[in-house]
Amino acid sequence: MQVISFAFNPFLENTYVLFDESGECVIVDPGCYQPQERQLLDAAIAERNLRPVLLLNTHCHIDHVFGNRHVVDTYKVSLAIHRDELAVLESVPEYAKMFGTPFIPSPSPDRWLMPGEKVSFGLTQLEVLFTPGHAPGHVSFYHSPTLQVLSGDVLFRGSVGRTDLPGGNTELLLKSIREVLLPLGDDVTVLSGHGPKTTIGHERKTNPFLNQ
Ligand SMILES: [Zn+2]
Ligand SMILES: [Zn+2]
Repeated sequence: MQVISFAFNPFLENTYVLFDESGECVIVDPGCYQPQERQLLDAAIAERNLRPVLLLNTHCHIDHVFGNRHVVDTYKVSLAIHRDELAVLESVPEYAKMFGTPFIPSPSPDRWLMPGEKVSFGLTQLEVLFTPGHAPGHVSFYHSPTLQVLSGDVLFRGSVGRTDLPGGNTELLLKSIREVLLPLGDDVTVLSGHGPKTTIGHERKTNPFLNQ
């Protein structure tokens, strides 16, 4: 599995395209907001001749779903999220209005991601890990053959996700990290929703939020 990443929108949210030699790909958390950002995403897909087959959201905060409508309209893919993120997704238009941010509403999800489920594209399988705390239905996507996990806004290099937004819960967030992410092992690369990549080992040893 190979990974293309972009930092999109004023929140510098990391958007990921995962693909393999079959040419199929999935798009995770399309934060593309400006027309140029949508073009960058489309160009990356087109120049590799990739075929998007699914849209995934780790969670549905505005910075992770800005491009949902574009991706679904352009590639005719279904949207899969955890059921507990539906209320978050549905609250985004109101949130956008409050901050005066133009927002093209996301399509409704086509199916729910179940904890432990394997999501397939091409020759690749991603394991759905349930990692609530930053958002109530937050999931992470783990690819064990290449030891990579997409951790959304749960775990960052040197930090953890905020828990002061509706549905946030600090205890639950730390539990998700300790009981779901850390056991993946020190060698696992963490591709976060914001900022640079890191490893489980680096965070286990140095992350101040995990060493209290
Ligand atoms: Zn978030
Ligand atoms: Zn975010």
